[in-house]
Amino acid sequence: MMDYDYDIVIIGSGLGGLTVASLLSRKGFKIVVVESRSRIGGRFSTFEYEGFKLPTGAILIPDGWVVKLLEDMGIRTDNLRPITRVYYRIDGERYEIPAEIGVPKALDIIDKLERKDAEKKNRPMKPVELSKIMRGYYKKMRGVNQEEIITVRDWLLQYTENEKVHDAFDTLCTGLMMAHSWELPVSKFFLFQEMTKFYISPDGNLSIAEELARLVEKTGAVWTNTPARKINIKEGKATSVIVEKAGKKIKIKCKMVISDTGAKSTVSLAGKENFDNEYLEKMRIKLRPSPCLLILVASDKPLCLEGIHDGLEIIMGSRRIKTVIPISNICPELVPPGQHLIYTSAKSEITLHPMDIKYEMQQVKSDIREFFPDFEKHGRILKMRVCGIINEWPESRTWLGYGMPLETPIPNLFNVGDSCIAPGLIGTPGSVESGYRVADIVEKVL
Ligand SMILES: Cc1cc2nc3c(=O)[nH]c(=O)nc-3n(C[C@H](O)[C@H](O)[C@H](O)COP(=O)(O)OP(=O)(O)OC[C@H]3O[C@@H](n4cnc5c(N)ncnc54)[C@H](O)[C@@H]3O)c2cc1C
Repeated sequence: MMDYDYDIVIIGSGLGGLTVASLLSRKGFKIVVVESRSRIGGRFSTFEYEGFKLPTGAILIPDGWVVKLLEDMGIRTDNLRPITRVYYRIDGERYEIPAEIGVPKALDIIDKLERKDAEKKNRPMKPVELSKIMRGYYKKMRGVNQEEIITVRDWLLQYTENEKVHDAFDTLCTGLMMAHSWELPVSKFFLFQEMTKFYISPDGNLSIAEELARLVEKTGAVWTNTPARKINIKEGKATSVIVEKAGKKIKIKCKMVISDTGAKSTVSLAGKENFDNEYLEKMRIKLRPSPCLLILVASDKPLCLEGIHDGLEIIMGSRRIKTVIPISNICPELVPPGQHLIYTSAKSEITLHPMDIKYEMQQVKSDIREFFPDFEKHGRILKMRVCGIINEWPESRTWLGYGMPLETPIPNLFNVGDSCIAPGLIGTPGSVESGYRVADIVEKVL
């Protein structure tokens, strides 16, 4: 077996792996990143299909951690396209609502619509209880008791039974926190660090991943098509990683291993017998991967928000699709001439179970037909990706507030990425932030 020697082996070139790799490379550590796929970036990447540049996962880059990383690394950010306008479709009508006041304003609109409807139909109104909800909301924003385990839905039921209001909160939960309002504890909901501005990369996320990889390659290496097969543990420490490269087994000796493959996969690479029961139990209880279907709809005429170049749409009262991003309005360079592209995703009613794909797909198609009447004549589903909880690519490796620690019981083995998100963070900001934290620890330890 051929041997290599590096300071640090990073398994996985997702955004978490590339963050910590680029930060530590800059500090002078000799690093190798091994990636099992032919393309880097993981769920933050791009692939070409029928002339479209399609995302493998994430599309929206929230302002904050990712932008900070790019700036720290000297990677340009001025080309990122901002999404500043958020439209809500409520009862079939479209309303533009500034992101900073999304919840109260949406509830206010629901309140008005309910009053109108009650008057029209001469029936009692289903109370929205806007002021009571908002009082309860701001009280919780000032501080939450982490022991509180009632769900968001149960918390809301103190104030209202109005199903439209419940739908609005559920939309928020599934879109930003990875679980339904009837699943997520209210204590986690109020940890959420608000996101009010998003960007899309006009060259695709792969171009960002490649820039980060180039920084690593200045002093180290990034190997694609190189799955890690085993993390060797000797006398309680990680000593090397066995990878497969061009059909050959290679041993990479190292001082430290950082895994971006998810906490569960790290355990199987290093061997369950090397982890104490407390850690394994914590992992079983905490990690809650969140599934979704990623749906990319192509069309020969715009199906959504025609003429709006910096907006996305949130649909209330749908079966499945909640957030709709008209990628081609914002970044026309990602699609072939004359084509348009919508990005949307769908979550099944229970995130803890594997999805019934056929049923979920029917629900999605019914939504698309209902909300985009031109779809039948002008559109087609270009690609659909199943991001399940069993395969390695869920929408998130855990719900908001359910991150594992970065440290493992093995002192020189760390996790990075979205199984280790800090409380309040999720998605790409969560992965990047975990990379900063690991880099800090490693710098102190090595
Ligand atoms: C459909 C979908 C939509 C999303 N939308 C958004 C969004 O709009 N905004 C947002 O902020 N976030 C979004 N996310 C979440 C975001 O994409 C992820 O949180 C983030 O990209 C995860 O990065 P990571 O580094 O933690 O993991 P990953 O991207 O999963 O990277 C892990 C890498 O490890 C590699 N790997 C695994 N096992 C091995 C092995 N044995 N050897 C070598 N390599 C291995 C994998 O191939 C992969 O490249 C979305 C995710 C999905 C799936």
